[in-house]
Amino acid sequence: METLVVDHPLVAHKLTTLRDVRTDSPTFRRLADELVTLLAYEATRDVRVTEVTVETPVARTQGVRMAKPYPLVVPILRAGLGMLDGMTRLLPTAEVGFLGMIRNESTLQAETYATRLPDDLSGRQCYVVDPMLATGGTLSAAVQFLFDRGAVDVTALCLLAAPEGLAHMDKVFANSGKPIRVVTAALDERLNESGYIVPGLGDAGDRLYGVV
Ligand code: URA
Repeated sequence: METLVVDHPLVAHKLTTLRDVRTDSPTFRRLADELVTLLAYEATRDVRVTEVTVETPVARTQGVRMAKPYPLVVPILRAGLGMLDGMTRLLPTAEVGFLGMIRNESTLQAETYATRLPDDLSGRQCYVVDPMLATGGTLSAAVQFLFDRGAVDVTALCLLAAPEGLAHMDKVFANSGKPIRVVTAALDERLNESGYIVPGLGDAGDRLYGVV
């Protein structure tokens, strides 16, 4: 698995305000949206394109267009919804599928409670968006779900990642033979005893949408 921590002063600046406990939900949503677009720029470096010919007002030249099948963007409900617009702004032709995942408190495994995805993802590049890569349980289950439907490669965009989550992903997919990338704005120190990323930004869903 490949991990990319996007090292850019604008990313660090926006992330610092996002972390700040005094940042209100409207500002948090706007900054998360902006950050995703910056992460998406790096995350889509390997997006497939095909060569085309185009007529400019002056001459004929070669260029590229997004190849089909178009990429699939998959927000993990609910917090991933806060990253969807920032992603589709950069990838307007992408299709969007939804995955709702919850931890089963008896088995402690992530389980799928809602899906709205094509049955066949053969040949698809998938971009999973989920703000916090904490234990990695949800993300690994989501990535496995997409591979089981035929996805060729999966890139996860996370605002923050914990070392424990990355280690879990590495372990689960060590022998998958499929390309997996995690693109994040920062790699934080650790998880605390409640499973929160430290220093982190708190509960991403609550900060985006309020406590429900
Ligand atoms: N999910 C969150 O929203 N925040 C964390 O710190 C960890 C998981």
